[in-house]
Amino acid sequence: MTQDLTPTPESTQPKMCDSCAGVQQNWRRARGHPELMQGTHRTVAHKHGQVTITRYQCERCGTVWDYENNKVNRHAGWSVVGG
Ligand SMILES: [Zn+2]
Repeated sequence: MTQDLTPTPESTQPKMCDSCAGVQQNWRRARGHPELMQGTHRTVAHKHGQVTITRYQCERCGTVWDYENNKVNRHAGWSVVGG
């Protein structure tokens, strides 16, 4: 009898390249990788004040990232923009 491994609930995007896959999401101190091209940034008003969100896109796999620079939320940081 073989036991199947439980599939991970968070679906990993198959088109994401290794560099993107290595970016730690939702962690403020995490670094991006050199192939991320910086795009536009915008300022969003939060309860605690304003935060700046910078848009990046990977040159290799095209994954779009947002980086939220939020001093009061250490879980803000890199997140993949869906769609
Ligand atoms: Zn990538």
